[in-house]
Amino acid sequence: MSRTGLVLAREGSQFRVDTEDGIVTAVLRGRIKRDDSRALVGDRVTLEQSGGDWAIATVAERTNLLERRIPGGRGTRPIAANLDQIFVMTAAADPEPIPQLLDRLLVLAESNDIPAAVIVNKIDRASGEGLIKRFEQVGYPVFPISVTTGAGLAPLLATLHSEVSLVTGASGVGKSSLLNVLQPGLTLRTGVVSQKEGRGRHTTVTAEMLPLDGGGYLVDTPGFSDVGFWGLEPRGLVQCFPDLQRHAEECRFPDCTHRTEPGCGVRAAVGTGVAEDRYQSFLTFLDELNTELRDWE
Ligand code: GDP
Ligand code: ZN
Repeated sequence: MSRTGLVLAREGSQFRVDTEDGIVTAVLRGRIKRDDSRALVGDRVTLEQSGGDWAIATVAERTNLLERRIPGGRGTRPIAANLDQIFVMTAAADPEPIPQLLDRLLVLAESNDIPAAVIVNKIDRASGEGLIKRFEQVGYPVFPISVTTGAGLAPLLATLHSEVSLVTGASGVGKSSLLNVLQPGLTLRTGVVSQKEGRGRHTTVTAEMLPLDGGGYLVDTPGFSDVGFWGLEPRGLVQCFPDLQRHAEECRFPDCTHRTEPGCGVRAAVGTGVAEDRYQSFLTFLDELNTELRDWE
């Protein structure tokens, strides 16, 4: 007997797998255990049953991989696979939005090749107009909402019910409130992002996939920001800023770092196609990545 399913969680050597006939527990079949395509949360798998026990027989090719980069350039550790979208959530006010923190979370999504979108909550408190424009200019889908009044919620909830999503953002922006509207009683460890940087911390990052009653899945992983972009090639950073990347082809030098070189297309676009503070975020992260490289050498 065989079935297909989606890996929801791992507990030791046991995997919890969602199938069309309900949730089952499975172990890895011997052959899979030996190669490195170990099953991950989010993996689409085929299961085979022998003697009443389910075993994961195959793991489908992944569309993307959320990875934690290990400090010191010692590689990466996979956390979850096949995320459709990461929602970076902020409030229009209370707490005051921190654009650079949002940029950091967006770079994390980009560096893992996961599509990102921005939720601007509490539009009953402030219009959020500047923020909305800032991220729309980059090209991100933006969902202006108020969990309190219900404004703008319908399209966001419809999206969450049709995808595998991760919601992250600073504490106080309204994540729990949103999840409670999405599915009352749902509790997550997700995305409590500390305003201090997680650099150098060695927290254990695991993930779990929560099926939603109305369809879709939420990925729950504590301290998403701790995933870190350690180990990202400084030269690759510009590709994690779609607005800057659009102008990088106009640079005179192919190895332009977009800092001081003459004829830099990115710098030329600052103030027009590229917001001043987006470019500042880029410079800040670039310094961090370069400092890390030096620290490790
Ligand atoms: P979390 O830390 O991100 O999970 O944020 P919470 O969901 O706990 O929300 C923090 C506070 O913001 C709570 O007091 C909520 O009632 C409040 N809140 C959440 N959404 C809104 C909103 O759309 N408008 C307003 N005015 N307050 C909100
Ligand atoms: Zn340049």
